[in-house]
Amino acid sequence: MPTASPKKSPSRSARKGPRTPDRFAEAEELYGIDAWGKGFFSISDDGHLLVHPTREGHRFADLKDVVDEVAGRGITPPMIIRFPQILASSVRELNDAFGKAIKEFGYDGDYRGVFPIKVNQKKVVVHEIIEAGRKYGYGLEAGSKPELIAALSQDLGPECLITTNGYKDEAFIRLALDGVRMGRNVILTLEKVSELERILEVAKKRGVRPLIGMRAKLYARGSGKWAKSGGEAAKFGLTTTEMLAAIEILKAKRMLDCLVMLHFHIGSQITDIRKIKDAIREAGRVYAKLSRSGVEVRYLNLGGGLGVDYDGSKTSFDSSMNYTVQEYANDVVYNIKSICEDEKVPVPTLVTESGRAVTAYHSVLVSNVLDVADKIEQDKTVTLNGDENHVVRELYDVFKGVTAKNMRESYHDALQYKEELFTLFNLGYVSLEDRSKGEILFWDACDRIRRHLKTLKEIPEEFEDLERELADKYVVNFSVFQSVPDSWAIDQLFPIMPIHRLREKPGEIATLADITCDSDGKIEKFIDLRDIKEFLPLHSFKRSQPYYLAFCLVGAYQDVLGDLHNLFGEAHEVLVAVDDENRTRILDLLPGETCERVLSYMNYERAEILEGIWKQLRKAVDKDRVREAEAKSIAKDFEVALSHYTYLEE
Ligand SMILES: *Cc1c(COP(=O)(O)O)cnc(C)c1O
Repeated sequence: MPTASPKKSPSRSARKGPRTPDRFAEAEELYGIDAWGKGFFSISDDGHLLVHPTREGHRFADLKDVVDEVAGRGITPPMIIRFPQILASSVRELNDAFGKAIKEFGYDGDYRGVFPIKVNQKKVVVHEIIEAGRKYGYGLEAGSKPELIAALSQDLGPECLITTNGYKDEAFIRLALDGVRMGRNVILTLEKVSELERILEVAKKRGVRPLIGMRAKLYARGSGKWAKSGGEAAKFGLTTTEMLAAIEILKAKRMLDCLVMLHFHIGSQITDIRKIKDAIREAGRVYAKLSRSGVEVRYLNLGGGLGVDYDGSKTSFDSSMNYTVQEYANDVVYNIKSICEDEKVPVPTLVTESGRAVTAYHSVLVSNVLDVADKIEQDKTVTLNGDENHVVRELYDVFKGVTAKNMRESYHDALQYKEELFTLFNLGYVSLEDRSKGEILFWDACDRIRRHLKTLKEIPEEFEDLERELADKYVVNFSVFQSVPDSWAIDQLFPIMPIHRLREKPGEIATLADITCDSDGKIEKFIDLRDIKEFLPLHSFKRSQPYYLAFCLVGAYQDVLGDLHNLFGEAHEVLVAVDDENRTRILDLLPGETCERVLSYMNYERAEILEGIWKQLRKAVDKDRVREAEAKSIAKDFEVALSHYTYLEE
């Protein structure tokens, strides 16, 4: 099914000069950037990660330059770097794909997509999507009262749809009907039959004819992690019997014309095109059969599910998808057209609620490495004085004796003596000094073995643990829970890579840890074209030199699903565009949350906090622990700290 070969990264900028052959030239392959980057990302000749927000090779922003530039304006990592132009490109790609398919297959109807704002409700994101979608009549989807209020306050064209999903109370219904009174196409989608009575009641009271949709429970299911969102046991949707019952109610009230949309949604990130086709065919039949029986529904809404190829493998694996946006549009248009022809009914206006595919690419989280943990000091050499426990001497002999030929045997010996070292320590036979020597010798032996392993074509399975154990833990200034929550919650993979030094061969293998004190605050699974990698190749870290990592494709859900674990708040945001003359423009800087802000979410108010501090200071002054002047300066420290960023700032 996947037709296009991986897109080659756009040509490098002439400004940076041709690539010299002695530089490390495989970063593209190592980090898979040509496979997942979709033309939005490339690597410059001087080893920086470039973003091409318009997918044109000659227009780019250099992420390292952006980070350096905003540092002068008080914005430090972690920061979300947001590219509105990528949103616009994505909106165009989706709408043009449907436009092309409609033309190609001679479909006698339109496409009227909506953006489901739960995927990213940030105002800049929604505004950019509306602007880019204006010429296509692209609308919005809302799933709650606040989302509906946000959607209704936007300046959308008269042909745009506003679809609503999720459970609704009377206030929700009133807002939607007010939207209809304002001349907007707000469609209330029934998730349950019981909602119909309530909608009709409120509509009657207000004297408005509602626009109603029905969410159908399909037999077809999605694939990947969201397979349970569809199928017969799905949380939302009407069974066939319930749909017929709803139609009877509407008929009896002479309001059948209010039923304008048939909707289904089989889940997010559908990785397998066959699952999508199954759902389209089933939904198409439901539409056509209703139409034949005189229920003329105008819109057929196919929901979300359009995937993102996070790992670039173009497969049906969880982090990937085995089809393109164009193939998706083709399948929708072609199949609905065939079914309608077969059943001799007019074709519907097609609607999709694609959120992930429209927003994923547009933002990158950049942060700095703070430290490397778990690293045994490489420069410490062990010299034996003859008084050590015998097991230390054994480890010393193993270390000294490692060769390419005996590495298997050496590895097993090293493991065995390490075990013995700890057993003897627990029994009291080994001193702390000896334990330290033994540990260093064990890791030194492993390091030697690994160096020999590198000369092999393939790493034998028994050494895979060794690779994992030798991986360093790079501590990064961010919170997994706030900035890439799906990595923690559902093991989703994101492309992660350095933003500089990319023409330097990365000599270390690492896993990542965040700065929360939660042991789950880590990333130990990374994208790979064939498999999942258990570590990430990174460059050696020196504290004197900043080292920045980018977490890419985090624009869908991650920006807005994050939580305040450990009270690490939202990161700073930098809005970036590249103009016609290839100049990088910082459009806006939005400072991240301060200590005061996150504390206020938990109901700690500034005045109360400072009063609490003063109370203790007065006691300390009374006891002559601090002087009056010191107390004032301590209180000042707290005032200043409240306005600080929640992340580390030096
Ligand atoms: C979440 C959701 C979407 C968005 O799905 P994506 O896979 O992100 O495109 C669309 N429709 C409904 C009803 C949803 O709940």
